[in-house]
Amino acid sequence: MRKTTYVMGVPFDVIKMDEASDKVMKFFEDGGSHIVCTPNPEIVMAAQEDEKLMSILKAADMVVPDGIGVVLASKFNKVKIEERVAGYDLCHAVFEKMAPQGKTVYFFGGAPGVAHKAADKMTKKYKGLKIVGTRNGYFTAADEKEIIREIKKHSPDLLLVGLGSPKQEKWIYENLRFTGAKAAIGVGGSFDVMAGNVKRAPKAFQKLGLEWFYRLLCQPTRIKRMMKLPVFAVKVIFSKKG
Ligand code: UDP
Repeated sequence: MRKTTYVMGVPFDVIKMDEASDKVMKFFEDGGSHIVCTPNPEIVMAAQEDEKLMSILKAADMVVPDGIGVVLASKFNKVKIEERVAGYDLCHAVFEKMAPQGKTVYFFGGAPGVAHKAADKMTKKYKGLKIVGTRNGYFTAADEKEIIREIKKHSPDLLLVGLGSPKQEKWIYENLRFTGAKAAIGVGGSFDVMAGNVKRAPKAFQKLGLEWFYRLLCQPTRIKRMMKLPVFAVKVIFSKKG
């Protein structure tokens, strides 16, 4: 049974990192195809105006909070989220469990060459992990059939899709069942970090819940996206008061 708690209409699994990675491993055995979403407050805000995105988040098999804002927002609820489960960290936790079992993963997304570089680094880090293919995330509608055919050829246990949100959630929702993959996770810019092209915030920032601030310092153009965050905070507080 899933234990969930709602943040602005999005059902989040109340689950810790270790349980979340176990659940992904279980998806490989369950049959069918499973969708994992990793929304941060920006995505929760986007879902307020994007019905399709909201319906995908509601239909997903697991939804984990990739953002301290979501964890804090849940503190107003009876059932609270205990910890942040960032998509990037979830990938590493799952790779660690997949590697000794020889499970397979396909990397789809990022600029040309990035997923390939990320795959090289991850194969060296997790001995036994089988990365069966990579594909960059820049394509036209005409390329899609070929992309799906290529993934289906490998029918991987896990498909990581890093196209940014909401493109990745919509792509997974529309296409996962045709790829033969048993589970898919929308991973945003994780391939850039795995490849070593983008640095994650230092651990101290992560522990203090300030990774978003570090990303803003490194990439000031993110300010436009982040303007939604104070609105998120105000909406969460007032929806609980009302
Ligand atoms: N991206 C892609 N195809 C697109 C648009 C974006 O593959 O059509 C990739 C982009 O190269 C980057 C990721 O999607 O690797 C989005 O990263 P961002 O930092 O915006 O995502 P976040 O982690 O913030 O969700």
